[in-house]
Amino acid sequence: MAETTLNDDAGAENAEATAARPTNVLIVGVGGQGVIMVSKVMATLAQRAGFEVKQSEVHGMAKRGGGVFSHVRFGHKVFSPTIPRGEVDVLLALEWAEGLRWLNHLNRSRGTFIADVKRIVPPFACRNRADGAPLGYSRETPKDVLSRVRTGYALNASGMAERLGNPRVANTILLGVLSTALDFPEEEWLAVIEQFVPPKTVEVNLRAFGEGRDWVARHGEVGPDEEVDFSPPAGLETPPRRPRVFIERAWCKSCDICVKMCPERCLELDEAHIARMRAPERCTGCRLCEYLCPDFAIRVLRLPQDASEEEASA
Ligand code: SF4
Ligand code: SF4
Repeated sequence: MAETTLNDDAGAENAEATAARPTNVLIVGVGGQGVIMVSKVMATLAQRAGFEVKQSEVHGMAKRGGGVFSHVRFGHKVFSPTIPRGEVDVLLALEWAEGLRWLNHLNRSRGTFIADVKRIVPPFACRNRADGAPLGYSRETPKDVLSRVRTGYALNASGMAERLGNPRVANTILLGVLSTALDFPEEEWLAVIEQFVPPKTVEVNLRAFGEGRDWVARHGEVGPDEEVDFSPPAGLETPPRRPRVFIERAWCKSCDICVKMCPERCLELDEAHIARMRAPERCTGCRLCEYLCPDFAIRVLRLPQDASEEEASA
């Protein structure tokens, strides 16, 4: 293991200063993308290499439409679990807008930006919820962003994962890219990944890791991936027009969150204190109630305008 853990010329120029400070990796995304798994792999890898490691994370708001992030710091001595703003060495984003949101934490002189161009539009981005309203999602393209960072990779990891037959391995593809920015042996990465993924998915995860590394070897640092269409997400600019809200009564714990947070005031609690629709005609299908329900009791479907009642209730 080299003194510096960054594959970075700037680090090599000043090895003493580099060795004295920890390496800072910030992993960001939204709920369900595997931010915590990436963070655990990173922390375990550094620990196996003999570094002191500190890790902190926030993921409690994931189901509520918020982001998930994890700080991993490792070095010969690490005093604080959180990375000071502007001191991130590698920012790894599993979702495009989350990457942009944390960009100002990246160190501009030595930082590396790695992002999936996957865009998950949170309900909060729909400031105007009327049919056909434009989204409040960032329009910044990989080209715009990569011109502002020292080293950057923007790739369609989610698309690559789908082609591998398992959309959930996008995070492992990004780990493959991350592995090219840090100085740990490839076999160590593979051993640690194997430790953290479900046994049935070991093979596809190891292939995904290799895909990430190959992608860097093929493309180097790139702007927009030619495979990526960066126009507004299809189907989101014009939301389907017939939302239907299904409430699983047995799962509702009467917390009232959906009633209070529905922007159109569509919901209420009935006599038994169970959520129900009181004004379905006002529902825009924004899915805020579905995202916010802590008990997964709500499901919002958007049906074609001409769906029959049978199709709607199927
Ligand atoms: S948020 Fe969920 S649990 Fe709470 S009242 Fe609404 S449906 Fe019930
Ligand atoms: S009921 Fe749910 S989907 Fe419909 S407008 Fe209210 S929060 Fe949005």
